Amino acid sequence: MLNTPQLPSYLSKENIGPWHIYLQQVEQVAPLLDKSLLPWVDTLRRPKRSLIVDVPIRLDNGQITHFEGYRVHHNTSRGPGKGGVRYHQDVTLSEVMALAGWMTIKNAVVNVPFGGAKGGIRVDPRQLSLAELEGLTRRYTSEISSMIGPDKDIPAPDMNTNAQVMAWMMDTYSMGEGRTVTGVVTGKPVSLGGSLGRQDATGRGVFVTAREAARKLGVSIDGARVIVQGFGNVGEASARMFAQAGARVVAVQDVSGTVYNGAGLDVLALKRYLADNKTLLGAPDCETITNDDFWSLPCEFLVPAALESQINRFNAEHIAARIIVEGANGPTTPEADAILAERGIVVVPDVLANAGGVTVSYFEWVQDFSSFFWTEDEINARLERIMAEAFNAIWQMAEERKMPLRSAAFVIGCSRVLEARATRGLYP
Ligand code: NAD
Repeated sequence: MLNTPQLPSYLSKENIGPWHIYLQQVEQVAPLLDKSLLPWVDTLRRPKRSLIVDVPIRLDNGQITHFEGYRVHHNTSRGPGKGGVRYHQDVTLSEVMALAGWMTIKNAVVNVPFGGAKGGIRVDPRQLSLAELEGLTRRYTSEISSMIGPDKDIPAPDMNTNAQVMAWMMDTYSMGEGRTVTGVVTGKPVSLGGSLGRQDATGRGVFVTAREAARKLGVSIDGARVIVQGFGNVGEASARMFAQAGARVVAVQDVSGTVYNGAGLDVLALKRYLADNKTLLGAPDCETITNDDFWSLPCEFLVPAALESQINRFNAEHIAARIIVEGANGPTTPEADAILAERGIVVVPDVLANAGGVTVSYFEWVQDFSSFFWTEDEINARLERIMAEAFNAIWQMAEERKMPLRSAAFVIGCSRVLEARATRGLYP
C-alpha cells in the first residue's frame, strides 16, 4: 500500500490551476516530514515575492502593444533564486508561482545551492518578429532588473526561450550595470560564457533517470518503446538519447500534432524536418495519429516534455506505459498520480527527472564566476553522477517508507529547504 495522505477538502476542487497543484503536493508531503520542520511548512505555501510588470514594445509596423510579465522568487533560504523564463500565450501568475515552487524543491533535490524562482511573459512569441522578440526581452529584463543578479536570482531558458534570449537578457542587465555580467543568466551561448553541455542537459538528465529506473525495474532500454510529448529542448534531446541507446521512439507529439512509426522514428531526421517545415506533420516514414491516441500507446517509457497537467484524470486510466519520466514541469495532476500509482505505473517526478538543466546551469554559473571553463566530458560526467545519486537516494527512501517517488523527492527537497529556513531563523 502506498502511503498517500488524504487532501484537505479545500484543495480537492476540479480544474485547479498549477499553483493549487503545487499546494496539493506540499499538503500531501507535509505529514511525512520530520515533526521539527512542521512549524516552517507554511514557508513553502507562500512565494517570498512576486512581481507583475507591464512590458510595452513597439511593433515593426510602428504600433505600440503591451504584454504582462512576471518574476517570482518562491524561496531563497538555500541561495539565490534560480529558474527559467517562459514565453507562452497562457502564462499566468499562478503558473509562474507553481513553476517557482517546483524550482525550490528541485534545486534542493539535486542539492545545488539555489532557491526557487521563475518568470514568464503572457505572449505568443510565434506572432513576433526577431526584432520584436528582442525588444520584448530587453524591456522585460529591464522591468525585472531589481529582482535579478548573479547572487540574487539567475534566469535561464524555459518554453519558447533559448540561448539567444539569454544573450539579450545578459546584455540588457550588463548595460544597466555598466559592465559585462555573464553570471546573471545561464543557458547563454557558449561564446558568451555559456557552458558546454547545457543545451542537452535537461534531456540528458531525463535519460539518466529513465535508465536508472529501468535498471531497478529490470526493463531493458535496448529495444524499449518510447513516446514523447514535446519535441523542443527537452523532448528532442531525450528522444535522441533514448534512440542512441537502442530504444525505439515510436511516437512524438508537439503543438502541431502526433506522428507515429511502430519500428521507431528517425529522431534526427524528424528534427531536421521540423526545423525546415515548422510542423511534424507530413514527415517521411511516419503516419499521423490523433493526439488522444498518443496517450494510450503501449510503451515502456512515456516522456511528457511540454506543458503542465497533460496527464490527468481523463487519460491516466488509458496510459499503457511502464515508466513515466517527467521532462516537463507539473505534467501530472495529483488525481492522475493516484490513478497511476494504483495501476503500478512508476513516475519519475519532474523535480528529479528534469533537474539536469538546472544542474548544468549551476556548473555554468560556477564557471562564469571563476572564468575557467570545463570540457563537455567533465560536464556530462558530473551531471550523470549528480543525477544518478539523487535518483538512488529518492528510490531508497521510496522503498523504505513505501511511498511514491514524487513523495520521496518532496520529502528530501522540502526537508533541505525547511532545515535551511529553520537554521537561519526568522528575521527580524
Ligand atoms: P520548448 O519551447 O523548447 O519546447 C516545447 C515543446 O512543447 C514544443 O515541441 C512544442 O511544440 C510542444 N508543445 C507546446 N504546446 C503543446 C501542446 N499543447 N501539446 C503538445 N505539445 C506542445 O520548451 P522546453 O524548454 O523543451 O520545455 C518543455 C518543458 O520542460 C516545460 O515544462 C519546461 O518547464 C520543462 N523544463 C525545461 C527545461 C529546460 O532546460 N529548457 C528544464 C527543466 C524543465
